Amino acid sequence: MSVLERITSEHAIALEERYGAHNYHPLPVVLRKGEGVFVWDVEGKKYYDFLSAYSAINQGHCHPKIVGALVEQAQTLTLTSRAFHNDLLGRYEKYAAETFGFDKLLPMNTGAEAVETALKICRKWAYEKKGIDENEAQIIVCENNFHGRTTTIISFSNDPVARQNFGPFTKGFIKIEYDNLEALKDALENNENVGGFLVEPIQGEAGVFVPSDGYLKAAKELCEKHNVLFIADEVQTGIARTGSMLAVDHENVRPDILILGKALSGGVFPVSAVLANDDVMGVIRPGNHGSTFGGNPIACAVAMAALEVVKEEGLAENAKELGEIFRDEMGKFISGCEIVKSVRGKGLLNAILINDTEDSSTAWDICMALKENGLLAKPTHGNIIRFAPPLVMNKGQLMDCISIITKTLDGFNK
Ligand SMILES: *Cc1c(COP(=O)(O)O)cnc(C)c1O
Repeated sequence: MSVLERITSEHAIALEERYGAHNYHPLPVVLRKGEGVFVWDVEGKKYYDFLSAYSAINQGHCHPKIVGALVEQAQTLTLTSRAFHNDLLGRYEKYAAETFGFDKLLPMNTGAEAVETALKICRKWAYEKKGIDENEAQIIVCENNFHGRTTTIISFSNDPVARQNFGPFTKGFIKIEYDNLEALKDALENNENVGGFLVEPIQGEAGVFVPSDGYLKAAKELCEKHNVLFIADEVQTGIARTGSMLAVDHENVRPDILILGKALSGGVFPVSAVLANDDVMGVIRPGNHGSTFGGNPIACAVAMAALEVVKEEGLAENAKELGEIFRDEMGKFISGCEIVKSVRGKGLLNAILINDTEDSSTAWDICMALKENGLLAKPTHGNIIRFAPPLVMNKGQLMDCISIITKTLDGFNK
């Protein structure tokens, strides 16, 4: 079968059902094309994308500048492995390091790999720089975290579905409540062997939990006091999503280790990265860590273009402005309705809490109705719906989307 042959939604779904592992439960829509804030299904119906591939498509679907960089590089040199140098890696490392204000970058492909990399760097730093006894290092993490799907990362998840029957798990993690400075203080004071604190500046997968103002700043200060690395997982919150280049920028916090992924490539290629200064990144020496595809020329070209687009098009400012409008408008709507309890978020990373139990199908049903009305979003944790459109959206489009969302929700008001 030619890949260009047209296929119906029904057929495409049936093929996945029959031949694909059932590790996801997608909304029943089969997409064929994307441009900017829009996607089209195989039958030609047009939708606003309000998920942006979990914030990987911040720059919009098929951004011509990013796709152009991809195509040009794909026709020139795709992969050398790190056995040899390539002419783009150093340029990309310099550009990204300067953009985010760090000495060095370590290139990876997926978010989970970058998190793994950060954990390894943190442990090595803990032994070699902080002087913790071999195999004793601990890393503090937060409840309801989401950092990816590897065996080590799910070792410190508390999502039973993500963990069950995947043990035995990796040791060396201390779990504390998110957005709780006392809990962090206790964990730091009562454990001598802490090397790092791994945190999402906003918990995305957990349902867009925005911590209290000042939490990140105070947490960073506590880490400094105890000589512990502050590790920010900005895979979902980074690259302008929350209305600033990084979510930690809202509190002027500079992490010791920064983890990026998703929108680092504008969603056209798997590109992730770990950034740190020399005193931390210096613990990594040849042979300690690597990846065949990490730092490949296509990834480097794509990531540079993707970051340029964010700056040239003022996506952080746009996300900030549109995010405020979105929460204001949704807030007004909610005050007079039964079906939604609250709206929360920062920039264009937002969620509404549906007024029903977590095990109800209401949020799913609302997403199905939104789909019928031309807008794609996905529930998380049963009764939360995340709203995260591409950041290239304009105000007119946002108002159009708000009207689709509120009209759809009205249909569910009792
Ligand atoms: C998506 C995500 C990851 C994992 O990224 P993958 O590319 O899916 O491995 C890690 N951390 C956070 C905060 C994420 O949102």
